[in-house]
Amino acid sequence: MRARTYLDCNATHPLLPEAKEVMCQAMEYAGNPSSVHTEGRAARGLIDQARTHVANLIQAKSDHVVFTSGATEAANIVLTPNWQMGRAKLTMNRLYVSAAEHPAVLTGGRFARDDIVILPVLNSGELALNVLQQMLSNHDQSSGVPLVAVQHANNETGVIQPIAQIAAIVKAHGGVLVVDAVQTFGRIPLDISHDCGDFFIVSSHKIGGPKGAGALIGVTDLMMPKPLLSGGGQERGYRAGTEALPAIAGFGAAAHACAERVMHAASMFTKQRQLEKLILTIDPNTIIHGISAGERLPNTVFFSMPGLKSETAHIAFDLAGIALSSGSACSSGKVGPSAVLKAMGFHEAEGALRVSICLETTNADIAAFGEALKMIAARRSTTRFAA
Ligand code: PLP
Repeated sequence: MRARTYLDCNATHPLLPEAKEVMCQAMEYAGNPSSVHTEGRAARGLIDQARTHVANLIQAKSDHVVFTSGATEAANIVLTPNWQMGRAKLTMNRLYVSAAEHPAVLTGGRFARDDIVILPVLNSGELALNVLQQMLSNHDQSSGVPLVAVQHANNETGVIQPIAQIAAIVKAHGGVLVVDAVQTFGRIPLDISHDCGDFFIVSSHKIGGPKGAGALIGVTDLMMPKPLLSGGGQERGYRAGTEALPAIAGFGAAAHACAERVMHAASMFTKQRQLEKLILTIDPNTIIHGISAGERLPNTVFFSMPGLKSETAHIAFDLAGIALSSGSACSSGKVGPSAVLKAMGFHEAEGALRVSICLETTNADIAAFGEALKMIAARRSTTRFAA
């Protein structure tokens, strides 16, 4: 019997052996990283090493990395109206987010509902830049600074936002830009020293590190959000609580491994083309979402096939030994309509299936997917999308 085929790397990436090895070592460390004795300093050393690896992957300063329990926590730290600039308080009075954001960002962190402005995306999934421009021009600067949060790449479609253009617009209007880089950090080359945002949120488990670690990374630390968790002075006071040593060490090891892995990201384009060809051969009327965008992640194919109900197809794939996703992984395990597709103007009830591969995905995996799709598509109803 063929082993299962895992094609759901945007939901979570399998743990890299490099991360597992370091985590096993870290579990043997007795000390608290805040303790001054030898055991404590050894634990601190592991955290510092992880901080350097995470920072290096994005050309940041290691001092500007704040470790968290994941990207969701990092978003909740940074999406706040209350900031500090040295000793002075600073208010971000309004949050602007795109309609295609992950719920971690879309829910707006510590902003009141009425202070969150949802910006539309185009059919391609890219942010409507003219609307961003217009909204920021109308922003009342006298009551506070505009905070803008957009994802670098979408977890469902893989659409990459024109982040340099977005950053230029935000900067021209005196705003601060938070980039949700969860799907690009460690996946494609990324350099925050180029003008592409002020703060970045990243996650360990999307790059082959363990679940339960992430980071908020600033280009500078001149201005910082009010901490979400206060208590001990860990993470320079920006995130109190004893550090999750094995998780952070594993995150660091994965980041270190990704410095090399990221150089091979483009090799996934060939497999992406193979997947799309396979799908379109089975039904040329299939819609590949986000295909008209300027750029997409090389590992993601999100598609809707006429008459193929994503919920049932998802289960059929699972029974056929293939793990993929219909939309984004939902914490409750239930499948619902994709808010991202709705935002892109796609309203078909059938929904969509997402295949997201990693560097380890083989041609045999792609072939197994193709065989399963052929079989599952043959059973669907013959309904066609409305013209
Ligand atoms: N942002 C994006 C784009 C994501 O894909 C995810 C996870 O799916 C998150 C944020 C949340 O990340 P975490 O699981 O680390 O909280």
